[in-house]
Amino acid sequence: MPQIQLLPDFVVNQIAAGEVIERPASAVKELVENSLDAGATQVKVFAKKGGKDLIQISDNGRGMESEDIEKSVLRHATSKLRDASDLFKLSTNGFRGEALSSIASISRLVIESRGADCSLGIRAEFDAGVLKSKEEAAVPFGTTITVNDLFFNAPVRAEFLKNDSVESSRILDCIIRLAMANESVRFEYRADNRLLFCAAEGNLQSRISDCLGASVARNLKEVEWEEFGIRVWGFVSSPESLEAGKRNMPYIFLQKRPIYNALITKAINQAYSSYGDYSPVSVIFLDMPLETFDVNVHPAKREVRFSRDSLVFQAVNHAVHNALQNAISYPSISITNTLRESAPAYVANNEGIGYGVWGIENKTQELFPDNRITSFENNPIPHTPYPIPHTLDFLQIAKSFIVCEQGQSMLIIDQHRAHKAILYEQALQALQKGESLAGQELLFPETVEIPAVLLPILDAQKNVLEKFGFHIVPFGSGTWQLRGIPAHLPISAAGPAIIRFLESASESKESDIFKKNALSFANSSAIQRETELSLQEMKSIVSDLLSLPNPYETPKGEAIFMRMSVEDIKRKF
Ligand code: ADP
Ligand code: MG
Repeated sequence: MPQIQLLPDFVVNQIAAGEVIERPASAVKELVENSLDAGATQVKVFAKKGGKDLIQISDNGRGMESEDIEKSVLRHATSKLRDASDLFKLSTNGFRGEALSSIASISRLVIESRGADCSLGIRAEFDAGVLKSKEEAAVPFGTTITVNDLFFNAPVRAEFLKNDSVESSRILDCIIRLAMANESVRFEYRADNRLLFCAAEGNLQSRISDCLGASVARNLKEVEWEEFGIRVWGFVSSPESLEAGKRNMPYIFLQKRPIYNALITKAINQAYSSYGDYSPVSVIFLDMPLETFDVNVHPAKREVRFSRDSLVFQAVNHAVHNALQNAISYPSISITNTLRESAPAYVANNEGIGYGVWGIENKTQELFPDNRITSFENNPIPHTPYPIPHTLDFLQIAKSFIVCEQGQSMLIIDQHRAHKAILYEQALQALQKGESLAGQELLFPETVEIPAVLLPILDAQKNVLEKFGFHIVPFGSGTWQLRGIPAHLPISAAGPAIIRFLESASESKESDIFKKNALSFANSSAIQRETELSLQEMKSIVSDLLSLPNPYETPKGEAIFMRMSVEDIKRKF
């Protein structure tokens, strides 16, 4: 008996769903793209529980007729592609006719739609892709698609989903990417009855401002370049606004479709290499002849293949270079070598990457090429009790390093790292004991603008922020009022600290939730380098540092200070 048989349609659809619909955000992406393809000028997204319970997309596009509604959930049913040659002339987002059939096969789907010339619309219900009911209904113009219980028919996939706030921020990220590419369409995203994102029709700049915040939008340089038939345009961070250690995700679009591409990301970042190791904010659009790329590589159309990678790389790299050319150069922090005139001044590098104990040793060698001074590792401070420096003579170098005498040695302390270690310990202790850190109420509350991308994380982290002393209340249109801030923090540093906290909270991979939160707090709220400190502040940092169980390293293992004994100093002469 022959063994081979064709798979039934519902199995085929489920297999396709596995490729196209990885998580709620992928369903949102497909549905919003359909709305845009239908000519909508307004798209509203509503999600419950990170999209797991419900996703609803309403648009004011051209709508569907009764027969088309039934066909739309069939596999490879599309109104956008007529023959194979169309595959290479894509003007629509969708073309494979796979999205609705895939979503329908793993959920309970309701489609309501009404065309511009119809007095009544249609409401149809599907269960795992099977039509359950269809009737005329008084529905608004356009289409509303409601996905209930996504993955109810694919429980294994449901197991892999993250918690609601993570899924919700992924949905938001996908909406933001589509919103940036469609600035003349009005977007709205509500999650569990909270408005998380709203962007009115506008131009690219106003859209970037809606998506990433007005202060980010103010600090951008315009990119406009054409080379090898490739047009590159958009906006990138101005060099003055670069923030050390901050990894910004690039927003890249090909023919106005959001794509992810490591090559282009590298081309952008490399254009900043003369300023240091940065991941700038970037919103980059690429237009090139249709025959030079292929988006039909992955069912979700996220990946692209270029026929000439090197040309794309060069065009993007030159485009960004050109945009930065007239920009003011970024002042690098240089520590003047007060100990030896002839030694090369060490130019401080970016926090984070390659900056652990090895980094310190390398730098030590740069400062002292004859290598007779060793880092604290080889020359440890005696363990407990740590004698606290009694002298009042604290010196700050480059507003970044504290120098003081301790016993028969000189300590050079990185103020940022030291404060990070102190805050981490304090925050961890407080969380473990269920206490809150001391805060200061502000008599004159400041406002802080929180970019829309971070709002789902703010929702999830508000209680933790309060434990650390941040008391914030909504103040309308993306701004929040700061009523209280941690005791040690200057007011001007509080807003940026909250934003950094939310960013690192979404990135941190630490599984212990207390450690994770303490780390995000310490990273975000520690005194930065290039901050002038009073004698009292220096003294308290040094004494707090030396009282820590491990004053040598930050929680991430970065060296905090160097020690030079009198012998070392004498040898220098
Ligand atoms: P594709 O977008 O690749 O054509 P989909 O499965 O996403 O495939 O959609 C199938 C068809 O359903 C589309 O080609 C379109 O005709 C119709 N459709 C889906 N969503 C909408 C919408 N919001 N408004 C109008 N028509 C829609
Ligand atoms: Mg589609």
